[in-house]
This record gives sequence, C-alpha cells and structure tokens, in this order.
Amino acid sequence: MLHRTHHAPYSGPVTTIAAPLTAWYAAHARDLPWRRPDCGAWGVLVSEFMLQQTPVTRVLRPWREWLDRWPAPESLAAAPVADAVRLWGTLGYPRRALWLHRTAARIVERHGGVVPRDVADLLELPGVGPYTARAIAVFAYGERHPVVDTNTRRVLARAVAGRSGPRAPSPHDLVAMEDVLPRDAAGAAIVNAAAMELGALVCVARAPRCGDCPLEDRCAWRAAGYPDTGDGRPRQARYEGSDRQARGAVLRVLRDAAGGTVPPARLAGAWPDIVQRDRAVASLLADGLAETTAGGLRLPG
Ligand code: SF4
Repeated sequence: MLHRTHHAPYSGPVTTIAAPLTAWYAAHARDLPWRRPDCGAWGVLVSEFMLQQTPVTRVLRPWREWLDRWPAPESLAAAPVADAVRLWGTLGYPRRALWLHRTAARIVERHGGVVPRDVADLLELPGVGPYTARAIAVFAYGERHPVVDTNTRRVLARAVAGRSGPRAPSPHDLVAMEDVLPRDAAGAAIVNAAAMELGALVCVARAPRCGDCPLEDRCAWRAAGYPDTGDGRPRQARYEGSDRQARGAVLRVLRDAAGGTVPPARLAGAWPDIVQRDRAVASLLADGLAETTAGGLRLPG
C-alpha cells in the first residue's frame, strides 16, 4: 500500500504522460522474449533476476539457455547448485544464480511449483526485493502496481519534476509513478513498461534523444532549458583491479574445473594479488558460492 505524505516532490499535470508513453511503446518497444504473452511467469521471473544491474543485450542468450535447460521451477530446484552457477557464466553478480536456485526450491515447496502472483508472497522468495516482486506481479500476471527502476526514475525526474536526474531512491518514487498510471491494470502495466523502455532507449543518462521522445512537448526539464539541478549519476566503482574482478576470476576457475575441486596451486593462478585472492575466496565461501574440500575449493554441490 502506498502512502502519500505532505511532502510531494513531483507536481504538475503528470497524468498527461501516460497516453504518449503508451502510443510510443506500441510503436517502439523492443521485442524481448520475456515480454511475449506466451512467456509464462517463470520466464518473467528469471528475466527479472538476470536484468538486475545487467543490460538486456547481455541477458538474451543466458536467459534462453536457462529456460531451455530449466523450463520450470521444478527442474531448476532438482538440479545441483553448481550447474546453476556454471550456467550463470559471466553475467556478473553470481549470487543471483544461488538465489534463483533457492527461489525455485521455495516455489516448489510452498507454492506447488507455480510462481506466486501476490507481492507479499513474492517478497518472501530469496533474492526478490520490492522492485522485482512488483515487476513479476505486473509483467507476469497483469496485477496493478507501480514498477520503478532506475530508467523510470530518470524519466519521472526529467519529464515530470524538471530535474536533470533522479534523486536517491525513495518511497516517493512509487507515489510519483502511481500518479501517472491509468486506472486499469492492463493500461498501467504498459505505462510501467513504457517508462522503463523510454529511459533505456531515449531518455538515457548522458545524452537524452529529446527529438525522438514522445514527451518532448511536455517535458518539464526540457521546458526549463535543461538546468543542471545537481542530480548527476553517482560514479560507478572502478571494476579493473577491484575485489569484484578478483572474485569473478576465482569463480571462473571454479566454474571451468572439469574435475570439480580446484587445488590451491591452480587457484593461485586465478589472480595475482594474494591478499585480494584470499578475500575473494573468503567472500565466495561466505556467500555459499564455493565450498572447501580436502583437495581445495569447488562450486557448491
Ligand atoms: S524530452 Fe528529453 S529529457 Fe525530457 S523525457 Fe524526453 S528524452 Fe528525457
């Protein structure tokens, strides 16, 4: 349930952006497999896990492989965790593979193998946060909720609030999105998807393509002359040489190990900095992405 507060960060005739967004989406939305009507809730759920922090282009192939191999929660729940981590490959943030595996098991145990449609039930699944729960309820089942990702936040900030970018995420984001949604669930689902798509394709962070934007004639930021409101993007931490890269390198060696266990000598070749390598191993063990054996380290069984 959304609560309005006395502090309203957005103002103006916001509902007027729903119609142009809907028309634009009908003509320009990418044909993505998880958007097709026959995709099913499991396919939508897998896509939402994979799309967290990862662009669509990198997700398309692993998503297909994943669904070919595990077309339903039962099949993934019955597979070894190591297979899930292996197939996750280089998508990044590999904890998501573990969570997906645990989520599949939970869906089998508690929901008879059917992805739940209720946001409260979805929120109890491992790795499912408020965004993902709403996205699954809306895009898999047509429920009516605001769904706000980083692209949507940018569109709302610019078109509605007249800012150069979104402020830090807050519950007001959902109120702001609720304000622009049509009352009917099907129409609301499309506007949710359209705002995200516009932010991904047109109202991009660095150089928005206002000439191609359906909101061009009503965008508050554009009308104000594109003022810099000091809402720049936070800098992403450098990846090269980071602990995250070290962790990825160690995990790759484990994934590629045909015999399962990787002895310490081979692990030493995974990453040159011994301190970072040890930290990577410790964090993989702590996350349950690796386990120790008598002979060394391996993916979880
Ligand atoms: S007109 Fe430009 S800044 Fe405004 S919403 Fe469209 S792309 Fe973004």
